[in-house]
Amino acid sequence: MGSATANATTYHNFIDGAWVPSVSGAVFENRNPANTDDLVGVFQKSTADDVARALDAARSAYERWRLVPAPKRAELLFRAAQLIAERKEALARDMTREMGKVLDETRGDVQEAIDMTFFMAGEGRRQYGQTVPSELRDKFAMSMRQPVGVSAIITPWNFPMAIPSWKIIPALVCGNTVVFKPATLTPLSALNFVRILEDAGIPPGVVNLVTGGGADVGNALLVSDAVRVVSFTGSTEVGRTVSSQAAPSFKKVHLEMGGKNVIIVMDDANLDLAVEGCLWGGFGTTGQRCTAASRVVVHEKVYRSFLDQFVGRAKGLRVGDGLDPRTQMGPSVSQGQLDTVMKYVEIGKKEGATLACGGHALTAGAYAKGYFHEPTIFSDVSASMRIAQEEIFGPVVSVIPCRSFDEAIAVGNGVQYGLSASIYTQDINRAFTAMRDMYTGIFYVNAPTIGAEVHLPFGGTKATGNGHREAGIAALDVFSEWKSIYVDFSGRLQRAQIDTAEL
Ligand code: NAD
Repeated sequence: MGSATANATTYHNFIDGAWVPSVSGAVFENRNPANTDDLVGVFQKSTADDVARALDAARSAYERWRLVPAPKRAELLFRAAQLIAERKEALARDMTREMGKVLDETRGDVQEAIDMTFFMAGEGRRQYGQTVPSELRDKFAMSMRQPVGVSAIITPWNFPMAIPSWKIIPALVCGNTVVFKPATLTPLSALNFVRILEDAGIPPGVVNLVTGGGADVGNALLVSDAVRVVSFTGSTEVGRTVSSQAAPSFKKVHLEMGGKNVIIVMDDANLDLAVEGCLWGGFGTTGQRCTAASRVVVHEKVYRSFLDQFVGRAKGLRVGDGLDPRTQMGPSVSQGQLDTVMKYVEIGKKEGATLACGGHALTAGAYAKGYFHEPTIFSDVSASMRIAQEEIFGPVVSVIPCRSFDEAIAVGNGVQYGLSASIYTQDINRAFTAMRDMYTGIFYVNAPTIGAEVHLPFGGTKATGNGHREAGIAALDVFSEWKSIYVDFSGRLQRAQIDTAEL
């Protein structure tokens, strides 16, 4: 897997069942965002040549793996789920160290991978097709799923094990093979996950890991004819590139992208509950969730009292190293992400929003070596401001006053994204109307915009997605294609739509 140097372990790619260095001879560092003196590991800076080797391995393994019966494939996945569960604590600690979110959340991330792996392993004995009567005599008609081929899996850093599991496990249970390119900020969790699949007995070449940058490794996957399906989670901007790069070779492309999610707080809401939900939705994972509640639309009748409570609670959040059990909010993942947060704070101020709390990077004392920022709330935000329209991906929440339920729905829908939304209300009619009228892929009532479970579809509308879903049985649709099969046992030519069956 790697070799320990005086300072840190150097980790390798995993190609055709072996841990190998990149042919480039180049590496990159992975550092702890809470303390950049802490070098987590050194990883391979791979190139198109490494990708080509991984694709060769995946292509030849595919010819064997697709023929392994799905329930047998699933047995290996059940074993993998068990191994993730056994190693949960160590996996969570590695994850906090490499990307900063607090331990409770990294444990949750690993738990999601466990849940997804058990759930999808169960699909090894399902993957139901349809068996239907034929319109002709002595003819049998059915449909079944078939695997697509080699899958390219490209993932972001904010859910370093959960998101890879959402993609790799359904790909495998359907009979595809995988080349996995994780985000450069979280290669250790990716490698830990692949090592578990190796330990569970997944055959050589079925899962390959190639670390490195998007422009090198990611792009090489997109332009290769060997890849038949791409599953990408990341920003809308990169998703657009993925989509266009994959188009000339007609790959199947599954995109999960940005969000600007909203919590609507109506005048009849349980305000304590709403404040609790907005804190968790806005500042959980330091606001770095695709489903983060970065907008809160509040009815004017309760606006002041909601805001006072929300700001009071946000000011009290303990920011620090996610490995410290007292910490409630960790650092931003990188200098680049912190810069984005600071840029948007300035934009918000210039646009005329009120900075209700926060607004500064934390740099003194224990914060000096990390990418920390205060939990930040803008109030009196109008729906058209950039801070209410653009994904910030940090601990910044915009609170927008509204006069009516209809206005709240219009503001909620009035962004380019469509991932998650929620409403706090005691009125069942309003709740159901919002459920129907918010055009998002996920909706919550009396809960924040985060908290998806693995057995329902996950994904978004508009600039968040391209119509596919991951998780649930919907994930099988990404990693399989339908084949309709007709078996004529009449012993004569029967022409569909022309010959008719005798009565
Ligand atoms: P990103 O788009 O910068 O990178 C995502 C992945 O794409 C990384 O592995 C990156 O190396 C790779 N990549 C970059 N350029 C590429 C290229 N030209 N060709 C191929 N691959 C390339 O995103 P990020 O900063 O890692 O993650 C944050 C973003 O992810 C946010 O926008 C967030 O909303 C989104 N996200 C969405 C969901 C969802 O389910 N909708 C979930 C989590 C994160």
